[in-house]
Amino acid sequence: MVIIMKVVLQNLTKKFPSRNKKGGEVVAVNDFTFEIPDGKLVGLLGPSGCGKSTTLNLLCGLQKPTSGKIFFGEDEVTNLPAEHRGVGLVFQNYALYPHLTVLQNIIFPLQNLKGKDKLSKAVMTEKAYEVAKLVQIDELMDRKPSELSGGQQQRVAIARALVKMPKVLLLDEPLSNLDARLRLQTREEIRRIQRETQITTVFVTHDQEEAMSISDMIVVMKDGVIQQIGKPQEVYDDPVNLFVAKFLGTPPINVFRGEVKGDKLYIGQEAILDIQGVADQEVYVGIRPEGFILDEQGALGCELSRLEVMGRDVSVVSTHPACENTTIRSIIGSDSKVDLGAKTIRFNVKPGKVDIFSMTTQERIHFELK
Ligand code: ATP
Repeated sequence: MVIIMKVVLQNLTKKFPSRNKKGGEVVAVNDFTFEIPDGKLVGLLGPSGCGKSTTLNLLCGLQKPTSGKIFFGEDEVTNLPAEHRGVGLVFQNYALYPHLTVLQNIIFPLQNLKGKDKLSKAVMTEKAYEVAKLVQIDELMDRKPSELSGGQQQRVAIARALVKMPKVLLLDEPLSNLDARLRLQTREEIRRIQRETQITTVFVTHDQEEAMSISDMIVVMKDGVIQQIGKPQEVYDDPVNLFVAKFLGTPPINVFRGEVKGDKLYIGQEAILDIQGVADQEVYVGIRPEGFILDEQGALGCELSRLEVMGRDVSVVSTHPACENTTIRSIIGSDSKVDLGAKTIRFNVKPGKVDIFSMTTQERIHFELK
């Protein structure tokens, strides 16, 4: 029986001494307040150093917060030692015991149970087979870790984390050591296992695509500060600032220096949209790769570099003097005709795929179409 519970972070802060010459401190986690709904998979996402691992360490009890509280369900666990929190942990390096078989590795956490929780060998083996079946490694129980592929080793690590039926499962970059294909496969596996067990799960990654593809909810972080929380598609469609817009999406959003003037949105001299509700000012204009429409009469003229065919889609690679990205990538259907001999390619834009951001705060500025 799995106990499904929400996890609540309340004003959680963790500071470390910076240990540089100037002294001071690093705020690895800065006043995090959010709730992970019970039974959901949440992706903590952000670039290196944004505080992802520290957040996980606070959740599992390996580190103590400087201030703030953590609740599992209604119970406060802030000061509860790690071994009493009922948390399952999986790290990037699987950390299996090399001299033990798969079965012995999975059973290991159960052997430490004491007193009334102590289990017989038969029950431990039964539980190990149960979780091994779930992660589909029950055929490999007598092998040593060295006799397994990376993906299989990671499944053993997941089985070991699940065998005590944790209240919360924490996964820290669990796919980083796997090759691209296995990464894809294993992330689907993790999703399936999470759905089947319904264990509230926190998944840490710097890979936005990975987080977007398996999470019910993502938390985008930067320098220890939460930028945005929401369903992956909602955050992608409605980024609160330029950082979030740039961090989500492959190929990334194309960012131009532009201007709002007299209810028109300009890139260079070219008015690409009629908008209203925004005062005249210089802005960043973000256009998603899928936001371009090929049109010989289009408002935006870019210098054509080349085409890249990626299966179903064709990516037009071009440049524009006002674009902050080295190249502009626009995804068009493979049936669209592009004259490769042409120097300039013209686009119109899909208004729903265009966001504008303040040049000073980089916050998103909402506009209406005219
Ligand atoms: P990565 O993706 O590279 O693992 P992360 O998002 O997990 O990064 P954290 O490991 O949580 O980031 O680190 C957040 C910040 O806290 C970083 O600036 C890091 O240098 C700092 N930090 C982490 N642990 C300590 C420590 N024990 N002492 C001092 N600073 C630390």
